[in-house]
Amino acid sequence: MRKPLIAGNWKLNKGGKDAVQLSRNIKEGVRDINNVDVLICPPFTALMRVYETIKDSSVKLGAQNCFYEMEGAYTGEISPLFLIDVGCEYVIMGHSERRQYFAETEDIIGMKLKSAVSVGLNAILCAGEKLEERENGKAFDVVKRQLEGSLSDIPEDYIQKITIAYEPVWAIGTGRTCEPDVANKMHRFIRNWIGEKFGNKSAEKIRILYGGSIKPHNISSLIEKEDIDGGLVGGASIKANSFLEIIIAASKRTRY
Ligand code: PEP
Repeated sequence: MRKPLIAGNWKLNKGGKDAVQLSRNIKEGVRDINNVDVLICPPFTALMRVYETIKDSSVKLGAQNCFYEMEGAYTGEISPLFLIDVGCEYVIMGHSERRQYFAETEDIIGMKLKSAVSVGLNAILCAGEKLEERENGKAFDVVKRQLEGSLSDIPEDYIQKITIAYEPVWAIGTGRTCEPDVANKMHRFIRNWIGEKFGNKSAEKIRILYGGSIKPHNISSLIEKEDIDGGLVGGASIKANSFLEIIIAASKRTRY
């Protein structure tokens, strides 16, 4: 059975010393929880401080992005090797905000993903449709295109280091959550796609997270669904109380 993962994407928040307090509170709050993996993804500038705060705990550290080159004349970019150097185990890739505001294409996301995994990072690949795409019956086509675009030429053994986050764009930061059954259908579709491409064993093992306005009151109904293995949490992850409530609710999942 896949162990749930609850990941916090802090986005452009808590880049300074607030990050230390927040990560300390999370670390203390999860001390007795061992049936859920907990990951926090602060901004780059806070990674070192947060690592120092959580290194003696079970909380894992991730970044929100990285470049595909390891080094060179790329002003302003961050190498996957630098993430390893500051204690990151994970990196988020292809978030819809990066697709929308930074013009990240499937090719770029695929290159980043390959580079990150090649140095030992775990990648969380985000995929999800926009509202008009769902309304026009295109949600499955869009997600399939995103998966194909970013994963089609990765080496087969890389799949073990990849987590998928299904994040319908219309649910991100809007307070509008996808119905658990609707989300689960997409998760099943993604798992089947992974099965066709990488084999059934990989499909059974891969964690597929849901993301989009997860809050303490809705996580339980999502995580009870067969193919929902956890959550990628934005807004509710930058307050210790709400993030911890989500983790605690996930730890009470009855399906095992
Ligand atoms: C996200 O940014 O990945 C996200 C799911 O945000 P929120 O939880 O705020 O909708």
